[in-house]
Amino acid sequence: MRKQIVAANWKMNYDLAETEMFLVELKKQVFPENVRVMLGPSFTNLNHAFKSLRDHPVELVAQNMHQSEEGAFTGEISAKMLKSVGANIVILGHSERRTYFNEDNAILAEKVNTGLENEMTIIFCVGEELQEREKGKQFEFVKTQLSEGLFHISDDAWKQIIIAYEPVWAIGTGKTATSEEVQEMHEFIRKTIAESYSPKIAENVSILYGGSVKPDNAKKIFKQPDVDGGLIGGASLKVKSFMDIVNACDKSQSE
Ligand code: PEP
Repeated sequence: MRKQIVAANWKMNYDLAETEMFLVELKKQVFPENVRVMLGPSFTNLNHAFKSLRDHPVELVAQNMHQSEEGAFTGEISAKMLKSVGANIVILGHSERRTYFNEDNAILAEKVNTGLENEMTIIFCVGEELQEREKGKQFEFVKTQLSEGLFHISDDAWKQIIIAYEPVWAIGTGKTATSEEVQEMHEFIRKTIAESYSPKIAENVSILYGGSVKPDNAKKIFKQPDVDGGLIGGASLKVKSFMDIVNACDKSQSE
């Protein structure tokens, strides 16, 4: 059975002291057994978070990495560096990386290969802009992101993949896709994986939703049959709202 997951993407928020304050509070919380919880602080705070979360079930996530193993890439971070500070999971293809840092599907395909070769788990983000949705082209768009960025991997590599569907128009805007829109896209993604690989692989891959998930809408979204949790930005910056979302993801608790 696929796992429920809630991953926090802190983006460029929180310095060391703020990270520590969050961690102190986080470690007082009781975590549901059925949900994998992940935290994505900035690169500079990964090592501190790793040490602080030793023997704790919360896993560490890096927000990005470079596609090369090493070399003259000033300012960049490699897979090996991330693993050395306890981040075995990496977010690739976040829409902010695609938009502001020109990461296209070809670069992302290289990053995916590097992540897999380094035995990392990859949270691979896809999602359409508003203009594609308004033209009814969202499915075609997401299918292209999947086929150009991810569908070159082997059957076996799928155990290292988590997908996050994040419609760009819903990220940080307060505008959430309806639970029906989310389910429709998640079902489409699963069907596309089944057609390109196999129904068994599609059934086992966790597909997360991201885009203005908050404590008051999380349960409705997570209840959808093809939604296996969330990638959370703004609402992951406070322990209370993050934990409310984590608990909403525990399907064993749903009425
Ligand atoms: C994100 O950045 O991945 C995200 C989903 O952000 P927010 O929850 O703030 O919309």
